[in-house]
Amino acid sequence: MDFLPFALPEIGDDEIAEVVDTLRSGWVTTGPKAKRFEAAFGAFLGEFLGAFPGDSSLHCIAVNSATAGLHLALEALGIGPGDEVVTTTHTFTATAEVVRYLGADVKLVDIDPVTLNIDPAAIAAAITPRTKAIMPVHYAGLAADMPAILAIARQHGLKVVEDAAHALPTTSAGRLVGTLDSDATVFSFYANKTITTGEGGMLVTRDGALAERARVMRLHGMNRDAFDRFTAKVPSWHYEVVAPGFKYNLTDIAAALGIHQLKRLRGFQQQREALAALYDEGLAGLPLITAPRAPAGQTHAWHLYVVRLADDAGITRDRFIERLYEAGIGCSVHYIPLHLHPYWRDRYGLSAAQFPHSQRAYERMVSLPLYTRMTDGDVERVVAAVRSALQ
Ligand SMILES: *Cc1c(COP(=O)(O)O)cnc(C)c1O
Repeated sequence: MDFLPFALPEIGDDEIAEVVDTLRSGWVTTGPKAKRFEAAFGAFLGEFLGAFPGDSSLHCIAVNSATAGLHLALEALGIGPGDEVVTTTHTFTATAEVVRYLGADVKLVDIDPVTLNIDPAAIAAAITPRTKAIMPVHYAGLAADMPAILAIARQHGLKVVEDAAHALPTTSAGRLVGTLDSDATVFSFYANKTITTGEGGMLVTRDGALAERARVMRLHGMNRDAFDRFTAKVPSWHYEVVAPGFKYNLTDIAAALGIHQLKRLRGFQQQREALAALYDEGLAGLPLITAPRAPAGQTHAWHLYVVRLADDAGITRDRFIERLYEAGIGCSVHYIPLHLHPYWRDRYGLSAAQFPHSQRAYERMVSLPLYTRMTDGDVERVVAAVRSALQ
């Protein structure tokens, strides 16, 4: 039987035609399609729940990765040496590394053992006079406890930057992630995310000053981008460099993919939701904890379907993954917590005992394949392999 990969992007004819159109157009870097993608993204967020039709206060800034977007957001908020930013240990290193780019320090905290999201009580306990910001991650596509996190931030005068790399589309207490009361939200369009541009990201904010700074810093700290200069009706070669910026702009080739991926996002989410429900059903009664679910009525983006082996599973996590590979099924682990990686462990003198919930989850967790190109039969095949591995 064919190998069932852990993740696959779903790229259709519309995406391909739009990329070809871009290639033939003569404008391949950041230009009209990146602008169209930004506008369409803002419209999507504004209209998803019908709550903010065409919400014009949302600024969407396309970048070449979520990592870039997180960096730009923290830079625009003035995070720097001497500052501390609190985030979860149970994330990808990108969330934390951007804090170090700016010379600030990372305060890693533990997760809630049920949702696997950052624990608000642990955030509150980690706050010091140096704390400037909180970076929640909506793990697997399930919203972190944003009402509690935003309340802590208000109480202590902290900024909030959401790492929403998994959370498109996700709702939190009836509102869409990207439209909440945080300072900025960053989405990822990496190859295995819920929509993809190959590489890419979107920084979303209601803060006009943050948006302006991020737009300038995304392209070398120049106050006018190349498309504006080269397409102006009057000679306009002039620009000024106002800061030592970065090279974080999204190309039109990538944006061409994003424009059409976005149109399919609602359908993608429904497919992922249905596949997750099939997993829940098929895995019921086995010695494992199925993926945490969103509260009733809330949208889960279902970027990942993460199970945890129960104490009586009778097999180690590593052996379990080997058994699935032997059955031709790819899987992964999200994540090796940051406190176990040499850089983070050594810089902050961390040990597993400081993060009991993340550590325990890590030792038992496996991410099963979950993507829109999977059929119901594929899920059944994974379920059968899981059953057999647990026998
Ligand atoms: C994928 C991911 C990122 C980084 O996204 P890029 O677009 O690859 O930079 C950041 N945080 C989390 C939690 C992710 O899963």
